[in-house]
Amino acid sequence: MAIYQAASDRYENMQYRRCGHSGVSLPPISLGLWHNFGGEATFENARDMARRAFDLGITHFDLANNYGPPPGSAEEAFGRILKSDFAPYRDEMIISTKAGYLMWPGPYGDWGSRKYLIASLDQSLSRLGLDYVDIFYSHRPDPKTPVEETMMALDFAVRSGRALYAGISNYNPQQTTEAMAILRRLGTPCLIHQPKYSIFVRDPEQGLFDVLRKEGVGAIVFSPLAQGLLTDRYAAGVQSGSRAALDVFLHPGDVKKRAEQVKVLQEIANARGQSLAQMALAWVLREEAVTSALIGASHVEQIEQNVAALRNLEFSSEELARIDRISVPAISTSA
Ligand code: NDP
Repeated sequence: MAIYQAASDRYENMQYRRCGHSGVSLPPISLGLWHNFGGEATFENARDMARRAFDLGITHFDLANNYGPPPGSAEEAFGRILKSDFAPYRDEMIISTKAGYLMWPGPYGDWGSRKYLIASLDQSLSRLGLDYVDIFYSHRPDPKTPVEETMMALDFAVRSGRALYAGISNYNPQQTTEAMAILRRLGTPCLIHQPKYSIFVRDPEQGLFDVLRKEGVGAIVFSPLAQGLLTDRYAAGVQSGSRAALDVFLHPGDVKKRAEQVKVLQEIANARGQSLAQMALAWVLREEAVTSALIGASHVEQIEQNVAALRNLEFSSEELARIDRISVPAISTSA
């Protein structure tokens, strides 16, 4: 098999955005490996997607200990790709991982203790074949562990050289304020927050983005396409191979529930000369607090289409008002 060589024009068309008040810039579109990179996915397809993403200027790849299935297998696959393809480019990449959800049995394999976070990070590094990750996240707040302990674990991860930066995910505005104050006190300021945000899930507008703007911390928003609902993936119904067909994290009922809204959004997108996926990505990126939209993909073509969204990030006030009329009354969804 031919040795991978990254496209020489990979930095020509991507405008990187500074992550809060930090020294780190991220691509406006980053690639997440939650789905379609695990042990049940086709490795060659996963590798093609990672290569194409990097060739298009996507320098940021997001993982977590539990991504698969089975848990851990997405990190293993990315470790293989790093070794075979990306080794010469490691310093051009921001690679993140997280711990916070169930990883192994017993009292030390879940949530937010220092014991779990550090052991999990060591396992992640071993699966990835790396000495360090760029960002290590607390994947979710733990109501039973003092937030000081979880933040001390992130601080230790950075001080011990296992990670370069600390991040938090799924923390609400109050938890975020508290966590950030502790991290600052410890001398490891929070680089980034990873919340869920899309036209269908606007919760971060209820205070979180205000906190992040005030603190100078960037947001990388996950599921900006509502797991595929905000695309033409379901225009012809739920096809096999799609996430909704798996009926685990996204369900045929979600597709049905959103069908009318999707139709109207598709019309707005087409009038802008974009696909719905492209408009949905441009829409999250219009928010000043958002540094990057963290997409998932099952095919190379999806990544190509999504990156092309960056050609039109402007919205008229009429377009925004039409989108608001559809999305504001339905602030939350399972997607
Ligand atoms: P998206 O909302 O981007 O959904 C991705 C899915 O949408 C793809 O798998 C694909 O579905 C479909 N899709 C993408 N582009 C297109 C397109 N152009 N046309 C048609 N369909 C398209 O994000 P995810 O929900 O996958 O999440 C992204 C990342 O966010 C994850 O990989 C992970 O890194 C992170 N994340 C973090 C969480 C946290 O708690 N911190 C939780 C969840 C995600 P299909 O597979 O059916 O083709």
